[in-house]
Amino acid sequence: MVSEFSDKETNYDVDRYMDSSYLASYVRQLEKKVKVSETEKKLLDAERMRLERELNSVRAELERLRLPPLFTGSVLEVLDDDKGIIKSSTGPTLVVQIAKHISGDDLPSGTRVALNQRSFALMDILPMTKDPMVLGMEVEESPKVTYNDIGGLKAQILELREMIELPLLKPHLFEEIGIDPPSGVLLYGSPGTGKTLLTKAVAHETNATFIRVIGSELVQKYIGEGARLVREIFKMAKENAPSIVFIDELDAIGSKRLDMATSGDREVQRTLLQLLSQMDGFDPRGDVKMIGATNRPDILDTALLRPGRFDRIIEIPMPNPEALKEIFRIHTKKMPLSPDITLNDLVIRCESASGADVKAISTEAGMFAIREERLEVSFDDFKKSIAKVLKKKGMDIDSVKSYV
Ligand code: ATP
Repeated sequence: MVSEFSDKETNYDVDRYMDSSYLASYVRQLEKKVKVSETEKKLLDAERMRLERELNSVRAELERLRLPPLFTGSVLEVLDDDKGIIKSSTGPTLVVQIAKHISGDDLPSGTRVALNQRSFALMDILPMTKDPMVLGMEVEESPKVTYNDIGGLKAQILELREMIELPLLKPHLFEEIGIDPPSGVLLYGSPGTGKTLLTKAVAHETNATFIRVIGSELVQKYIGEGARLVREIFKMAKENAPSIVFIDELDAIGSKRLDMATSGDREVQRTLLQLLSQMDGFDPRGDVKMIGATNRPDILDTALLRPGRFDRIIEIPMPNPEALKEIFRIHTKKMPLSPDITLNDLVIRCESASGADVKAISTEAGMFAIREERLEVSFDDFKKSIAKVLKKKGMDIDSVKSYV
C-alpha cells in the first residue's frame, strides 16, 4: 500500500517538472519571436522612412518642373541693392527687383541673368555662354606636331620661331630692347605645302593653345554675326593664353575692299574691320599671336598687310627634291618598306608633288599592300600610288605615265 502511494507521488512530481520545463522553453521561444519581430519592425521603419524621403524629393522635383520657365536677359546697371536695369531677351529694357539672395556686387553690367516670367524680377545669375561654333574652333590644348615632323622649310621654321616663339617664351628680351613684339605672321603658298603643319608645330613648342579658324566660317548669314565671332575668338584666345589664332583661307574675309559692293560684301568687310581692330591690339592682346594663311596673297587687302598687323610675310614654297626626300622619310618612317626602295627613286617620280601629295602617296602605297594582305610595301605599290595621286591632282597623265 505504502509503496503504491509513493509511486503516485513520484509520477505527480515528474508531470509537474515536465510541465514547467515545457513552459520555460515555450516562453524562450516566444521571447525569440518577439526579438525577431522587433528587428523586422525596425527594418520596416527604416524602409518606410527611406520611401517617405524619396516621395518628398519626387514631390519637390515635380513642383520644380511645374514652375513656369524664366526669361534670360543681361544686366545694364544696378541701381541699388534691390533694383536694377536689365535688357530682357524679349526686347524691352526694364527696371526690375533683384531677389534677396543675389548681391548687387555680383552683377557687373553684361552679366547674363534669369528673370521671372511675370514680374521680370531677377532670380538667378547664369554662366556666360560661348558660341558653340567658336568653342569648336579650339583644336587642342597643344598639338602633338614637332619641328621634326616637317620636311624641308628650315628657313621658314627659323623665321616663324623668331616671330612667334621668342615673344611667347622670352618676352623680357623685347622689354629690354624696348620694342613691341611682332603680332602676326602671314604664311602664303600653294595648297598642301605645310602651312597648318608649321603653325601646329609652333603651338606645340610654345605649349600654346591652338585655335584654328577657317576664314570662310566667319562669313555669316546675318549682319554683325561675323564680327561677333571674331570678337569671341579673340576673347577665347585671351582666356586660354598663351595661344595662337590661326586663320586659314584668310582671303575669304581679307580680300581687297571695293567701292561697288553688295550687302553680302559689306558684311564680309565688317568682319574684316573687326579683325583689323583686334589685330591692332586696340584691346591689348597679351600672349595671343596670330598666324594667317592664304593661297592668294595677291588679293589680300593692303590694310591687313601693313606692319603692326602681319609683321612678316613668309612664303611657303613647293618642296624641292631635297625637301621631298625628307617628307618621304617622315611619312614612310613607320612603314615596312621592301629593301629595293630608295627615297631618291620615289623623289624623281614626283617632282611636282606637295607635302600633302607625299602623305597621300605613302598612304595609298600602304593601302595597295594591305589590299593584297602583304606585310611589306613594294616599289610597285609606290609606282601605282604615285600615278593614282598625281593623276587625281590633274597632272598631265602622260608625263605621269612616263615616270612609272
Ligand atoms: P592648305 O593651304 O590647303 O590649307 P596647308 O599648306 O595648310 O594646305 P597642311 O594642312 O599643313 O597644308 O598639310 C597637309 C598635310 O600634308 C599635313 O598634315 C602633312 O601630313 C603633309 N605635309 C605637308 N607639308 C609637309 C612637310 N613639309 N613635311 C611633312 N609633311 C607635310
